Amino acid sequence: MSSDPISIPQEHLAARRLAEALGLPAFDPGWVWLAGAGPGDPGLLTVLGAHAIAEADVILYDALVNDALLKFARPKAELVYAGKRGGKQSAKQTDISRTLVSYARKGARVLRLKGGDPFVFGRGAEEALTLARAGVPFRIVPGVTAGIGGLAYAGIPVTHRDTNHAVTFVTGHGADGNLPALDWNAVAKGSPTLVFYMALAHADEIARKLIDAGRNADEPAAIVSNATSGGQIVGVTTLARLGKEAKTVDAPAIVVIGENVRLREGLDWLGALNEGRVLKPDPLGRSKLRDVS
Ligand code: SAH
Repeated sequence: MSSDPISIPQEHLAARRLAEALGLPAFDPGWVWLAGAGPGDPGLLTVLGAHAIAEADVILYDALVNDALLKFARPKAELVYAGKRGGKQSAKQTDISRTLVSYARKGARVLRLKGGDPFVFGRGAEEALTLARAGVPFRIVPGVTAGIGGLAYAGIPVTHRDTNHAVTFVTGHGADGNLPALDWNAVAKGSPTLVFYMALAHADEIARKLIDAGRNADEPAAIVSNATSGGQIVGVTTLARLGKEAKTVDAPAIVVIGENVRLREGLDWLGALNEGRVLKPDPLGRSKLRDVS
């Protein structure tokens, strides 16, 4: 836990300089910071998140956190895996919360690092409420959520004024593992673009419910798996074929339904970069482009 600059590796000095230059808050002993690590690409971590990793004494991290980020931790930091995937031991939610409280009470700077944003379908709020009940001070460090950042890496904007003025984020996985008991008519009609997390297992049922509620079966849909990582795969399909497509895809994946998916033909910047894909300047087929040419 030494703060002697001589013992701090070069990259940590850089992190500290950045923290000072930006006036970032000090990570005080006895505090828990609940931070989002972003969806996969380590470059999508926030500066505050990087500061937290560099300063923490203990880091409890989830399966969806890119391991590369942990290299930034203090050499003596304790790294605790608290994930639920990859065949590793599953950590119970109550155990994680209790561990956070006990490390904080020992006076450690405790970082709880979660994939994406900690307050988006990630139980971050549950953990923070446990801290609140225990009287442990905490800070929330937002992250880039997969449903926004992941789509951006697929060249699909969550909004565009020609396709949608609203977007709905939905989880396909309720607390009991089943599809959540939502008002599916309302979900179908509420906004033109729907973004689903944890929806692979129930994709077929979701598509059927939406079509029954009046959504067009030919509407474009996409599944972005391992978004923003080197293994990102994007499958573009229709609402009617969504369930079939979902069976061919590996988790984690984001499902997006709506006309904004068509914009990928013009905005797949990663495909242009990696595969020389030629981008269509007018993917929606509107001749009256507003842009100044
Ligand atoms: N807090 C996270 C979401 C946790 S729930 C966030 O804000 O992104 C886990 C779900 O998030 C996964 O089942 C998947 O639907 C989505 N997800 C997380 N990382 C992803 C990634 N790299 N690519 C695609 N989907 C991802």
